[in-house]
Amino acid sequence: MEILKKITILICAINILGNEVQSSKLLLILMDGFRWDYIDLPDVPLPGFQQMFREGVRAKYMVSDFPTTSYPNYYSIMTGLHCENHGFVGNYMYDVATGKEFLIGGNQDMSLPIWWDDGEPLWVTAEKQDKSSYLYYWSGCEVTIRGVNPTYCKAWTVPTYSADLTTALSEGLQLFKNNSADLVGIYLQSVDRYGHMYGAASDKVKDSLRAVDIVMHDMLSNLSSIGLRDKVNIMIFSDHGMVNRTRVVNLTSHLDPDDCVEILPEMNTIGIWPKPGKTDKSKNPEIDQYVSGPMIGMHGFDTSNEEMRAFFAASGPAFKKNVVHRPIRNVELYQIMCHILGIKPAPNNGTWSNVKDMLNLGVSSATKSNIDVSVMTSFSVVIFFQCILFFQF
Ligand SMILES: [Zn+2]
Repeated sequence: MEILKKITILICAINILGNEVQSSKLLLILMDGFRWDYIDLPDVPLPGFQQMFREGVRAKYMVSDFPTTSYPNYYSIMTGLHCENHGFVGNYMYDVATGKEFLIGGNQDMSLPIWWDDGEPLWVTAEKQDKSSYLYYWSGCEVTIRGVNPTYCKAWTVPTYSADLTTALSEGLQLFKNNSADLVGIYLQSVDRYGHMYGAASDKVKDSLRAVDIVMHDMLSNLSSIGLRDKVNIMIFSDHGMVNRTRVVNLTSHLDPDDCVEILPEMNTIGIWPKPGKTDKSKNPEIDQYVSGPMIGMHGFDTSNEEMRAFFAASGPAFKKNVVHRPIRNVELYQIMCHILGIKPAPNNGTWSNVKDMLNLGVSSATKSNIDVSVMTSFSVVIFFQCILFFQF
């Protein structure tokens, strides 16, 4: 009887501990305009990134949502939803119902929940489930979305460079160390900015890649020195790629602006609200792109264009090591992030089977899938009551 009791205690202990909802820390770095193949430019060795690849997973490339511009893809990544579902269809938008405009660069109306509430970004999902999120320069973190704000938001105001990344990382790692943060997200703009100003893969872009690589190397060393290298999961990704422009279309030679209620230029795609009776597209068959301004590099084109592909890499206890994963879509990331944080995702367009191969999903893994956890927790409750009954008996 005594032996039976000990065995039962052991089974109960294994079952209850084994099915605890596990979660781990998550660090996100969003590198705007970091094209998928920048990492393999022959004349730009990037030992910091390469070290991370050896210790983790890298997707061959990541497919962005159309249009391949920033806000639509920031939000596809953070909500796991395609643009038509979260509602960000451009960096410039016009709301017919209210007459309000969303204009990249910072008009007041950008922070109205009308633009944001159709999706639930990761930090809102996390905060609703008692996780603390700290966001640095991350567009949208200043907005109250579905009634929720992150624990901390350092709002984007000016372009961010590798020095800003260093500052935010040093704060973020400290937050992990003192157990204040579950999620830290940092936005870096320099690679996109130099791509626009000097061209895709230009010398200035290469210099910015080298600068970021040094920050990556230092980040891995700092994580080791504070004992968190095996505890923090890191996901680094971009919103889209970059290509040098080759063609300019003069829009006004195809379209009379007086026929339109509103025209919002997006450089390569354009938002047009025609007046009633002015919607005959057959009159304007040649309008497929519109480019203006001094920019040399550009993005926003069709997702089938290789230069529009984005970058994804990750490392930490949740991820396998030294794996080059088949290409993924950016709507897949939200479910991975929720899995790592141990939170239940909002409905999303991700497909678990497309990404599960990059994760450590064994019993000894730092994380478990949410479905597994809910099923096994129910089983755990049954066993737990059996244990109680046994001891009462
Ligand atoms: Zn850009």
